[in-house]
Amino acid sequence: MKVQELILIIEDDDAISKMVSLSLHQQGYKTLVTPDIKSALRLLNANSPDLILLDLGLPDGDGKGLIKTVRSELSIPIIVVSARHEEKEVIASLDAGADDYVMKPFSIDELLARIRSAQRRFLGLQPMVNVILCHEIKLDIEHHLAWNGDELLKLTPTEFNLLKYFILHRNQVLPYARILKDVWGVGYQNEMQYLRTYINTLRKKIETDTARPSYIQTELGIGYRFICEHFDNTISLEKD
Ligand code: CA
Repeated sequence: MKVQELILIIEDDDAISKMVSLSLHQQGYKTLVTPDIKSALRLLNANSPDLILLDLGLPDGDGKGLIKTVRSELSIPIIVVSARHEEKEVIASLDAGADDYVMKPFSIDELLARIRSAQRRFLGLQPMVNVILCHEIKLDIEHHLAWNGDELLKLTPTEFNLLKYFILHRNQVLPYARILKDVWGVGYQNEMQYLRTYINTLRKKIETDTARPSYIQTELGIGYRFICEHFDNTISLEKD
């Protein structure tokens, strides 16, 4: 049986937190509800929620401060649910480390869709396996090592993360902004030059012919697609 996911709702408006909590229960989630930052921190220490829904205007402070605190310690999705519609609030929340922003008033269906989407993104980035093989490329996720055939690849941490991200999202069209957000972080969505530079260096390290790449395909005007038809995550590395 699937373990029920626990969602922490930080919201000082009783009507909203009750409505959200009830809807989440109907969808099979468990919830914890708290109206302020102080008790949210206590609940975070005592429980391990799978996702946080966060209001910004709270009686004991601004939720953005809490995003930074949580982000420095926990890797779980944070969705801001706020009545603040200004673009600068949205950007500041995403910069602080929130994964998504839902504006009040919202429909519960929209919120549920955002929750599922945030969970999918996080699951995609956290493989359950330690070693994955894609054609000739082998990744040891735990030790941050990569091989092309028998050759150990000298990758920078960012190159490794980019390669890992591609393999975990193999065969999908990945828009530039999404790759930048997921690999570099929120706030980097427009840094196209970063991405181009890293794609070039990564291609040099993994492609036999960079002019005709067999792994990293360019999807013109959209992004990239990492081709991986032979995928295996059941292999193990010999210990030495
Ligand atoms: Ca509020």
